[in-house]
Amino acid sequence: MATKVEQTTNEVLHFIGNFGASEKPKPIDNKRKLLRRQSTVRDLRWNVKISGFAQKTHNPIRAIVDGLTIVPNPEKKMIALSIGDPTTFGNLLPANEILDAMKKVIDDKNFNGYAPSVGFIEAREAVAEYSAHQGVIKEISAKDVILCSGCSCALDLCIAAIANEGQNILIPKPGFSIYRTLAEGFGIECRSYNLIPEQGWEIDLDHLEELIDENTAAIIVTNPSNPCGSVFSKQHILDILEIAERHYVPIIADEIYEHFVFPGNEYFSMASLSKNVPILSCGGTTKRFLVPGWRLGWIIVHDRHGAFSEVRQGLLNLSARILGPNSLVQGALPAILKNTPQKFYDELVETLQNHANIAYSMLKEIPGLTPIMPQGAMYMMVLLDMKNFPEFHDELDFVQSLVAEQSVFCLPGKCFDIDDFIRIVLTVPKEMIIEACERIQEFCENHYRPPKIDEEIDDLATNFIKITDF
Ligand SMILES: *Cc1c(COP(=O)(O)O)cnc(C)c1O
Repeated sequence: MATKVEQTTNEVLHFIGNFGASEKPKPIDNKRKLLRRQSTVRDLRWNVKISGFAQKTHNPIRAIVDGLTIVPNPEKKMIALSIGDPTTFGNLLPANEILDAMKKVIDDKNFNGYAPSVGFIEAREAVAEYSAHQGVIKEISAKDVILCSGCSCALDLCIAAIANEGQNILIPKPGFSIYRTLAEGFGIECRSYNLIPEQGWEIDLDHLEELIDENTAAIIVTNPSNPCGSVFSKQHILDILEIAERHYVPIIADEIYEHFVFPGNEYFSMASLSKNVPILSCGGTTKRFLVPGWRLGWIIVHDRHGAFSEVRQGLLNLSARILGPNSLVQGALPAILKNTPQKFYDELVETLQNHANIAYSMLKEIPGLTPIMPQGAMYMMVLLDMKNFPEFHDELDFVQSLVAEQSVFCLPGKCFDIDDFIRIVLTVPKEMIIEACERIQEFCENHYRPPKIDEEIDDLATNFIKITDF
């Protein structure tokens, strides 16, 4: 049932919607023609400019990929290990319970109208319950949940609610490019903190702390990670929280891959471990339920001692800009979150772990490559030993030649703000992963130049240190 406030909002919306219709159209005034004159205050030509906001908004991935020459070898069928959409190849499908929930709301015909801009109360309750049931968080209720059009929209509102032009937010390197896309339009500076590959992509905590200053509005933490597939330990999350607490910096937790961890690893949400640091947790149905196109995300406000009372209001204000996500998906959400069987989640994770194991064991045998085994999510990062591929200037060059010769496309590390890596997506069908790894092997064997003998001993000794060195 909708609350009073929400009912009133709906009535206001109806009122606004009908207002124009009650006025009679004005008769056309022919005399107006005589009064037509040229403006004296405007340029007398079309001079329509892009807004500063639009100009400052970029997707770095687009810019980098558009700059590449992607011409596959016509003899070989293209394999795209680049696409972060798990539905692309049709091998991973949403559970029937998810599809049934959606069919039912369409047939019910009850969800064709507007919802309150923060979402239907039933859907928000369902998210609160889902997060309490699977995490350790008991105190969350519907009033702490705001529904958005996907997790990107949730991140957008959080950044907009918490940071001003001229302030900065701290983001992971390597990291998902959307944070930069969202923040830079607002004139918010993005400062990248390093993740350390040989420590399972944990945050370089000293570096993180060095970046904090009086203008730091928030730290964004992605766990599990895109592009790394890393999952932070409980202790590591406590260490991050300790730094945030000492400097009074709130956290925006991008937890779109929550619970998406391989057996043997455990997922801890930031909020479940935070005593004093206020946290905005962003999630949604996109990845875990395999429905990115349904565009349903959420923000959960994990306040601590009232630190977020203004931010909470800010998020409510900003939700008036989006008028909430699609009503049909909101209508289906309670059933989706309650009825999706554990077996579906488990099988999905098992498939991805299986793909990760296959790709890892194949890639680690290839000269010049060092894959880093993920613990969750849908991706694996692979380090390229560029000095053993002297033909290629950088990993962009490597990626272009790999497409040209083997028709395998991976996103270069630069798309995630890091050099010398490529990211491979693990959601493609198993046969394609195997085929792609075989072709990558052939490619590397053709281009690998072994180090000279005297360098080799040196190289063995520095090998471990080298990959920390960026
Ligand atoms: C896919 C992804 C998102 C965006 O999710 P949508 O719900 O499609 O907007 C956000 N963060 C990360 C890390 C992602 O990989």
